[in-house]
Amino acid sequence: MSNATALRLFNTLTKTKDDFAPIDAKNVRLYVCGPTVYDFAHIGNARPVIVFDVLFRLLRHTYGDAHVTYVRNITDVDDKINERAAQRGISIRELTEETARIYEEDVAALGNLPPSVTPRATEHIAQMIAMIEQLIAAGHAYAAQGHVLFNVSSKSDYGKLSRRSVDEMLTGARVEVAPYKQNAMDFVLWKPSEASLPGWDSPWGRGRPGWHIECSAMAGQYLGETFDIHGGGIDLQFPHHENEIAQSEGAHHGHPLAKLWMHNGFLQVEGEKMSKSAGNFFTIRDLLADWPGEVLRFNMLRTHYRQPIDFTFAGLKESWKTLERWYEVTEPLVDPAPDGEFFAALADDLNTPAAIASLHQADEMALAGGLGFLGFSNVQLKIASKAKVDTVAIADAIAARNAARKAKDFQESDRIRDEWLAKGIVFKDGPQGTTWEIKK
Ligand code: AMP
Ligand code: ZN
Repeated sequence: MSNATALRLFNTLTKTKDDFAPIDAKNVRLYVCGPTVYDFAHIGNARPVIVFDVLFRLLRHTYGDAHVTYVRNITDVDDKINERAAQRGISIRELTEETARIYEEDVAALGNLPPSVTPRATEHIAQMIAMIEQLIAAGHAYAAQGHVLFNVSSKSDYGKLSRRSVDEMLTGARVEVAPYKQNAMDFVLWKPSEASLPGWDSPWGRGRPGWHIECSAMAGQYLGETFDIHGGGIDLQFPHHENEIAQSEGAHHGHPLAKLWMHNGFLQVEGEKMSKSAGNFFTIRDLLADWPGEVLRFNMLRTHYRQPIDFTFAGLKESWKTLERWYEVTEPLVDPAPDGEFFAALADDLNTPAAIASLHQADEMALAGGLGFLGFSNVQLKIASKAKVDTVAIADAIAARNAARKAKDFQESDRIRDEWLAKGIVFKDGPQGTTWEIKK
């Protein structure tokens, strides 16, 4: 462990900013709720990915790269997925595979490291069934008409994360009343599937899991009963995270799910909620066609993660200008240690705007080190500024080349490499996968 400034993080559960002390400094454990893969991710979805990537980097810097486990799941069973696949006339598998691939390319183009584990819900059904059985045995869940429901009244502290009583939830939320529910707030752990929908055999008949149990089961599988940090957007606090807590504690003799809960604020566009009907809905992919990923990333980090972000095109232009100015004075962004102010700001509840402000004053080496630490490479932007290079097309080419290599079609993989080399882009293969840079 390095002697970095003590890390202080705001805990949504206690509403206090506390010194961070890992349960096991040899294995610091972080879980972040990932995407439901039915459509392109939007720029709001990019926010938790970028924020928790910075946290992942900071934890690795503090405890060592080999001592941090970051799990971000993929929800590939969900009613929205079933509906969209039917609408498009493709199989569920085709839809989830395509969407997950696009998601991975998009978040890579935004400069994020891959998490340590990216588990898929459909590959963890057995763990979900086992957890539901534990909940029934512990008196926290009941089966009725092919469904299994969590009995909210069985857990006296239900509501502790969002600090609402069950009565308040009942008046505030649209709860589905159903004949198989004992109480209106009880939520679904398992539900029956008709033959045309994805389903798995279970003690309660052929069915599929509810959304909340997926995260509890996958977190338990990779991080154990109690881990250090659980993250996600503020909208997930209730009901999703409240229900994750109820399930995991209920199945694990009351042991807490996570010691620390972190939630990022919401992103709005030009002061308004993003919506397709208002015409202000932007996918990451749309934006990457016009803006280098680094500019989108930098723009996000200029606001503290707990504040709301107002995403504007004027702000993006400013971000591009600042990065361009900085890149004029810095060469490839490699290791040099940034100065104390930069890390002190990050260690203070991930204060990225203060860390960025310290870079305005920093000497060239500290500036380069700070930018490199935050996940900037300066390559994309230099290319994009000189000649318009489509970073998405490069990501697609890398994916196609990897597929060819996997299929042992080396003629094709070399052809792709040479095609891009002729355009001045060098592919570099390393332990983290393939990256690219401008030919020098
Ligand atoms: P979803 O696919 O809707 O479950 O969202 C995936 C992640 O993106 C969750 O952590 C959400 O909290 C987060 N998220 C969704 N919309 C926004 C937004 N407008 N601003 C910030 N985070 C968001
Ligand atoms: Zn979750």
